Amino acid sequence: MKKIKSNEIVTNKLVKTDAKLYGYIPDKARDVANKICTIINASEADEGGIISVVGPQSSGKSLVGMELIEKFDGKELKIVAAQPKADRSDVPEGKLFSRVGYEIPAVSFQTKKEIEKIFHCNDIVVIDEIQFTPTSLQSYLLKEMRMFKDRGGWTIVLGLLYTSLGTEFLISSVLKDEASALFQLKSTCQMCGRRNAIYNQRLVKGKPAANTAPDLMPPSSDVIYEPRCQDCYVVVGE
Ligand SMILES: [Zn+2]
Repeated sequence: MKKIKSNEIVTNKLVKTDAKLYGYIPDKARDVANKICTIINASEADEGGIISVVGPQSSGKSLVGMELIEKFDGKELKIVAAQPKADRSDVPEGKLFSRVGYEIPAVSFQTKKEIEKIFHCNDIVVIDEIQFTPTSLQSYLLKEMRMFKDRGGWTIVLGLLYTSLGTEFLISSVLKDEASALFQLKSTCQMCGRRNAIYNQRLVKGKPAANTAPDLMPPSSDVIYEPRCQDCYVVVGE
């Protein structure tokens, strides 16, 4: 397995690209991963749970997942990284990907059988991009996750809470309320520069998204996304 070589390297690589904007994010991600690690290690042998990590793009969610894989991989508990097969260029198949430039292998799932296998073969399951789980699989995934918890398994779900229209993705919303621990990451607002962005601003040909647009639109030459704070985030009404 290709691993993050050390925490230092992640920070250094980022420093070269976007130090001023995002340089603090790997440290925050590491801090959240450490807290999750403590929760799991302190649990009773038969005690499982669901832990939710939400945040906008570029807030370090995937880095939290990578840190967790590195912490647990090869040790007593069996851990796996997974994500829904999303058929989007920004969600590559078979790996978790961080904008910092690091990636680790991950199981992409698109059937109930594949979901079942993930939960039956592991003690800890990290699922990234949870919001892209196809609607037809969401209730099944929830059921498997709850049964896994009852068997003493831990699921860490990483993903966006808010759609680009400012509403909550249903699966993220349900898991946020059900989780035994919730971590809310923030990013740097691309308008004002404050480190309190919780939304993803969709810009279509440079203009803020309209509330009549679909919830999901993959990035393209016309559609881009950027983290924004509550004050700078805009959705144009009808
Ligand atoms: Zn702002």
